[in-house]
Amino acid sequence: MRKSDYKVALIVPVYNEHETVETFVKTVFEKLEAEIEHIEIVFIDDGSKDDTVQIIENIQKEYGNISLIKLSRNFGKEAAMSAALDLVQADAIVPIDVDLQDPPELVLDFIKIWREDGVDNVFGIREDRSKDTNTKRVSSEGFYYVFNKLSGRVQIPSNVGDFRLIDRKIIDILKTLKERNRFMKALYAWPGFTSKGVGYKRPERVAGNTKWNYWKLWNFALDGIFAFSSLPLRVWSYLGGFIGVLSLIYMFWNLIKTLVLGNSTPGYTTLICVILFLGAVQLIGIGVLGEYMGRLTEEVKGRPVYVASKITGPLSKQLPKGMSNTCVGISYNEETKK
Ligand code: UDP
Ligand code: MG
Repeated sequence: MRKSDYKVALIVPVYNEHETVETFVKTVFEKLEAEIEHIEIVFIDDGSKDDTVQIIENIQKEYGNISLIKLSRNFGKEAAMSAALDLVQADAIVPIDVDLQDPPELVLDFIKIWREDGVDNVFGIREDRSKDTNTKRVSSEGFYYVFNKLSGRVQIPSNVGDFRLIDRKIIDILKTLKERNRFMKALYAWPGFTSKGVGYKRPERVAGNTKWNYWKLWNFALDGIFAFSSLPLRVWSYLGGFIGVLSLIYMFWNLIKTLVLGNSTPGYTTLICVILFLGAVQLIGIGVLGEYMGRLTEEVKGRPVYVASKITGPLSKQLPKGMSNTCVGISYNEETKK
């Protein structure tokens, strides 16, 4: 085993993953344990309804460096990752999927770039997406294009997921961010510092099924865009202004026409078109307001991002002060109130 003075934690959100957990742990240790002296796996059970938790607890008996943060229900992958970022103390954290779609051996390349080149945010770039459907590829490209056009200063490279290595200084900054809508992909980029991408081929899931469908992906995309841009909100004044000017011109044109040629009262079609068009534009505008209002309400309510009901393994011995290992409610970055 190579000697090293740093500690790396793989953070692995799991939701109904009884088919993949064991293979994941075996593969990780096979590929990484000989190379990294201090490595730990932290599973975050995101309210699985199958026996994922029991399987993890059995594996924990075999290995000394596996921890489990059990959330009290399904909070979503972003919340699960936030729980780990709050609680794990390692020098670098690697968010990684349990289905082996993020190849564990790539972590060695991440670490090399982190240690030798001093890069703080080393991310994986999915180079080959031939396994994805055309619809998924096109919609994903479209999302990154729109996101980067709207978000201004926080840019996210396309084909980059959560799989990456982040240095402690970025984690410490992420922990101070108070927002509840946690679009992690862009939040990782928000603190800045140095970043570098490493290309890889994304294989298919080893077992089980994806937890995403198009409706969820659509909402996820909206979360990202509305969290990082206020342009959709502001564009309506400009659109209103533009339509207003056009209407004025049209009004003058009609006025002159009526003065010169008299009023023959046609125009039913024009009228109905204008009413329907403006009605639709107004409804879209209200809809966008609603999207922001809904998210604003979530933020104002200030509920915790996740609730951890149980923490086991080495992590339970190094929890922040005041937090027990059977917490009833953790709001991120706050001490547990029993
Ligand atoms: N996941 C989670 N909570 C959820 C949905 C997914 O923790 O509500 C986890 C899941 O167990 C997996 C990772 O997030 O480890 C990625 O999920 P998936 O493979 O379904 O996503 P895809 O690779 O298809 O984008
Ligand atoms: Mg997957």
